[in-house]
Parts: sequence; structure tokens; C-alpha cells
Amino acid sequence: MTAPTAGITAATEKAWAEANAVIPGGVNTSLRRFNPPMVFERAQGAYIWDVDGKQYVDYHAAFGPILLGHNHPQVNARVSEAMGQLDLIGAGTTRQETELAERIVKYVPSAEKVVFCNSGSEATFSAIRLARAVTGRKKLIKFQGCYHGWHDPVVMNVVTPKEFVGKKHLLSAGLGPDVDNTIVLEYNNLEAVECALKTEGQEIAAIILEPIAHNIGCVIATNEFLAGLRRLCDQYGVVYILDEVITGFRHGLGGYQSIAGVKPDLTSMGKAMANGYPISALAGRADFMDRFATRAGGDTFFAGTFNAHVYSTTASLACIDLMEDGGIHRRIFALGDRLRDGLQGILDRLGYDAQVISFGSVVVPYFLTGQIKSYTDLLRSNDPLDIAFRQAMGDRGFFMIPIAMKRNHISASHTQEDIDRTLQAADDSLSMLSKQKA
Ligand code: PMP
Repeated sequence: MTAPTAGITAATEKAWAEANAVIPGGVNTSLRRFNPPMVFERAQGAYIWDVDGKQYVDYHAAFGPILLGHNHPQVNARVSEAMGQLDLIGAGTTRQETELAERIVKYVPSAEKVVFCNSGSEATFSAIRLARAVTGRKKLIKFQGCYHGWHDPVVMNVVTPKEFVGKKHLLSAGLGPDVDNTIVLEYNNLEAVECALKTEGQEIAAIILEPIAHNIGCVIATNEFLAGLRRLCDQYGVVYILDEVITGFRHGLGGYQSIAGVKPDLTSMGKAMANGYPISALAGRADFMDRFATRAGGDTFFAGTFNAHVYSTTASLACIDLMEDGGIHRRIFALGDRLRDGLQGILDRLGYDAQVISFGSVVVPYFLTGQIKSYTDLLRSNDPLDIAFRQAMGDRGFFMIPIAMKRNHISASHTQEDIDRTLQAADDSLSMLSKQKA
């Protein structure tokens, strides 16, 4: 059991010890564990409360799903209504899943057909399996710093210690031989991709990437990189998988592809699709998607007991209804800009070597200077300072997960006043830390 950090309250210590007694490490996702441990019991709008009743402005948003705000009343009302009517049949189809697929086809430029599952990992797993079925090839290109889930060919090289950059850095024991099929390349480096395709192009089934490498904060793919990958995929017959599990819905109903003007073959989505209800989707070219065995004659297995659960499809439809006029995105983008500019101003005034990078509602302070184009640039990060800043913010009631370079997310429930109070707390925290440094 992890020893609790000094200073936590008796209520947290007790709940944490009880969790650790029956759950390895007390949490159900490795990145949910950090110091000091936290135990939560309430969430509403922009706020979350721990077991001590301490309130936080939430910038974590459960790693991204919470886009409208926690426990959104209109989404919950729609789900409650559905609950009285239908739950899970596990046979045939429902009108909700058809309607949701229609909406995704309408908004996501490359989506011609759609299937639903429950997590981002299931969507990327199915994308890779489908790419292999379509091409009859096995290998995969992924990029250093991108995360695509917990399955064997992708669970590697996200946040990698310096000595492993350029090598394979597996994130788990117990993996199978499929890890050898993955080639890890530098993000935003088209020449590296071209070079790999020249030598192994005939063996490569797919290229998978996040259009913004949000798993290392906010490293944005250049439009040239995204377009260049399209060209190379066409040239070498490789399937282009855009992993929009974070960027989908959060940056726009059409995903980042509608912003960058790139058209992948397959797109995975998840997280912000349903404001916290569990659902993910894989969408793409009809001729590819029709290979799934959900269709008579399809040869690529796809199944899941809970797939397209009515609670989640209904929640996602409710979210789309609320987002359709663009107002939600305008609001969270404006708040994101306010937080980014305010934070950058404070860091500059206090003389920190730091920069704030954002896209829309995702805002990331990096404690390093110079350009950020790929993971290699982030090796200059002052991680201890980054974590100390986040902990200082937590002490002041502003929850930014205390892991270096992790994203802050703004929801439509945050107000301008929340942002301004956050900036005041950031000013206090950074002033305190710079005094400690001196
Ligand atoms: N792709 C991306 C881009 C992600 O950020 C994540 C989760 N962080 C996944 C896939 C996997 O999603 P899940 O955790 O829902 O399995």
C-alpha cells in the first residue's frame, strides 16, 4: 500500500486506506494515483468536492469528457427519460444509435459509417484490426508522445524517459509479440515517416496519431504534417487513422479534422462525446467499415455487450443538441484564451521560463522555453516545478491534476469569474514558488 502523504485529513486517509485494501493502489486507472491522494464524493457544474467537503474548481474534467460541466441537468434529464423506457436489449438495434450515427456522419467530414463501443481503447483497437483486415498487413506507425489506449500494439512511448526516446518504451509487462509490429516515430517529422515507408511501406497497415498530441499536453500537428501523412498513406496504400478521442467533440462537433481540413480513413472518438457517460465511436470510409462482421458477410469481428448502450447514446445526442449552434464551443474557446493569456502574463511578470500553449478549451502551462514541435522538446521541462505549481493550485481549491504537462480542460460551466479567480490563485502560487526558489 502507498503510504499516505503527510497533511491529508482523517476522512481521506480512512477512505484511501479502505480503497487500497481491496483495489490495487486504490484506483482503477494508473494515472488516477498521485500525491497527496484524493477521494471524491460530489461533482456539479465546474466544481468537484472531496470527502472532506473541500470544493475545487475542476480543470481535470476526468481527462477530458466533461465538456458541458459535471452532472449536466439537461443531459441527465434526457438520460432519466430514456431510463424509464429502455436500457440494454443486446439484440437488433435502437433508434438512438441510428440517430447518433447519423449526427456523426453529418458533422465529422470523413465519417460515412459509424460503430459504437465504450472506451477509446476499444475504438482504436478496432481501427487497427480493421486496417489490418483491409490491407492484409500487420505493421503500424505511431508517434512518440501519442497515447491510443491500453492494447498491445500501442501501449508504448507516451511520456518516455530521456534514455528511451528513439527506442521502444513499453508501458506494461505481459505484452505479446504484437508490440514488435509497431514503429515509433517523431511527431511532426514527415521525413521520418517517408523514410520508414520507403523501406517498409508494403508491410505497414496503418498510421495512427492524435492531431494534437494532448497526451503530452498540447503539441499541435502542423497542417503540413497532417496533409503530408494523407499523401503518403495514399501513395503506400496505408490506412490513415486519426485518433480524435480527445479532440473529437471537444474542439468542435466535426473534430479537429474539420478544423485542419484533413480527411483520414478512420477516426476514433470518445471522451467528450457524452459529457462523461461511457461511449466511444469508430467512424470512417463506408467500404472499410463494411468489413465489420456487424454486417452480413463482414469478416472483421466487432462486438461488445454494452456497445451503444441507450443511456450513453441518449447522453451523446443530448450533448450534440446543446452544442449544435456553436455557442458552447465559442464560450469554452474564449474562456480558454482568457486562461492562457492570463497565465502567460503572470509567468512572464514573475520571470518564469515557461509558456502556456492552448487549443480552444485545453490549456497547458509548460515550464520550458523554446519551440515545442515534438516530445523531444519536452525533455527540457522542469517537471518538479510543474507539479509544485499544480499542488499549490490544489491547495487553493483549483484542481489541476498534479502530473507534469497534463491538460487543463474548461467546460461550459466555468465562468469568467472562475477563470479570474484561477488566475489570482496562479499568481499567488507562482509568487510563493518563486520566493521559495530565491
Ligand atoms: N486515444 C486517446 C487520444 C486518448 O487520449 C485515450 C485516453 N486517454 C485513448 C485513446 C484511450 O481511451 P480510453 O481511456 O477511454 O480507453
